[in-house]
Amino acid sequence: MAPTLLHQLFDLVTFRNMPIRRKFTLFVLGVSLWYFVIAIAGIVHQPDWRGVIGIIVAMVIAHALLIAFAYAATRSLTRPLNAINGQVREITAGELTDLEHIHVHAQDEVGELSVRFNALLDALRELATFKKVIEHDDTADDVFGRLGQVFHDKGLHHHQIFAAEEGQQGLRAVFPPSGERAWCGDALLESAAQCRAFKTAAPVESEAFPSICKHFDVTGCQHRCVPLLMGGATRGVVQFVYGGDLGPNPAEFKPRFEVASRFLHEGLPVLEARRLTDTLRDSAVRDGLTGVHNRRFLEEAQGQITALCKRRQAVLGIVMCDIDHFKRVNDDHGHGTGDTVLRNVAAALLSTVRTSDHVIRYGGEEFLLLLHDTDRNGAALVAERVREAVALRETNTGSATLKVTISLGVAEFPTDDASFWEVVHHADEALYAAKHSGRNRVVPWTRPQEGAVVATV
Ligand code: GH3
Ligand code: MG
Ligand code: MG
Repeated sequence: MAPTLLHQLFDLVTFRNMPIRRKFTLFVLGVSLWYFVIAIAGIVHQPDWRGVIGIIVAMVIAHALLIAFAYAATRSLTRPLNAINGQVREITAGELTDLEHIHVHAQDEVGELSVRFNALLDALRELATFKKVIEHDDTADDVFGRLGQVFHDKGLHHHQIFAAEEGQQGLRAVFPPSGERAWCGDALLESAAQCRAFKTAAPVESEAFPSICKHFDVTGCQHRCVPLLMGGATRGVVQFVYGGDLGPNPAEFKPRFEVASRFLHEGLPVLEARRLTDTLRDSAVRDGLTGVHNRRFLEEAQGQITALCKRRQAVLGIVMCDIDHFKRVNDDHGHGTGDTVLRNVAAALLSTVRTSDHVIRYGGEEFLLLLHDTDRNGAALVAERVREAVALRETNTGSATLKVTISLGVAEFPTDDASFWEVVHHADEALYAAKHSGRNRVVPWTRPQEGAVVATV
């Protein structure tokens, strides 16, 4: 109780809680009082009226100066402080994108505070604008792309963002998308578990712990790898490389990394939301049994794929695959084994084509391959590799080891027909020819001669 009273008394005599303007008014009144006392004492001791007038004039001038000084000092303090107050009120209300700089009136401590406050406003506004923009991005890849651009703009030119894909073993280089910055070789692309930051869900810094990661082998450079933690799991990694030939130097890197981290922090919740949407959207266009794309995907994506193909004047290899005598597998080993065989065939197809190509479960035991920038001959070669991969793959039923073969028909869009579905139909015709000429083979579609019906082998 006593200290509170003492504090209150202290606050009262030091005018601690009084507005600055009132403090200065009191200061002026106090100094004025002294002027009066000194002036009256001087007047009392003045023998003639000239001396009295002199004292009065001096007192008026001193007062005018005092008031002018007090007014200027009060304004130089209250103006920037009120402006800062107003902006802080807006920040608290969540208004971050429309923040205006406050005026810097002087180069004193208050001026310095104003300059620093303006820098803080810039940082907040930039972050808020970034968040607003990414919230309108459609996919996680769009957000990753923007993050990559921000890192670049903040002076971190050497970085690579990796994302972990649902059901995939390796990481995918999302920015830059081509993955040309393979400072860790292909190790992470093959298996995410090879990445120390991903595996431990903790940042990996070579500056603090030299040679901490066996995969990073760029001599003279440092790296810092940050795991992307979303929804309680690691969903990716950002790798920053600096020092040596790949500037900035370590001292410059730290503050730039701090800024980049703030953007990353803002981006993570949005990335998580986009990832969930992408996953839901993806699950609608994927086949539940094999994990490859389904017919719905083909129907939704074919317009885009063919339009792009025509715009780029590129060709698309279309391969229709069908498992040979699959009914027998079901009949002899049961539907469960049939399902396992289907999954194995899909895995063989996926591992043989490029990641940019599409594998689609077209029907029960039929798969369609869309091979970008691949003409009939190239597609026939890929089809042959696919055929071999399937023929070699074994399915263990517990009591026996099963092997199946597939037949494949190849066609080329838009060379064989301007209509995508017509070319798919041609691939199907070629597949029919493959079945009829003995199965376990590849048949490219050729335009039937006058009077002829199907393709040549
Ligand atoms: P062909 O060499 O002429 O293609 O003969 P096939 O036996 O492979 O062809 P058919 O069209 O006679 O049989 C296809 C079988 O594929 C029949 C169907 O029960 C089976 N099938 C379709 N979808 C599934 C599935 O999801 N799982 C399983 N286990 N079987 C499926
Ligand atoms: Mg079949
Ligand atoms: Mg069939």
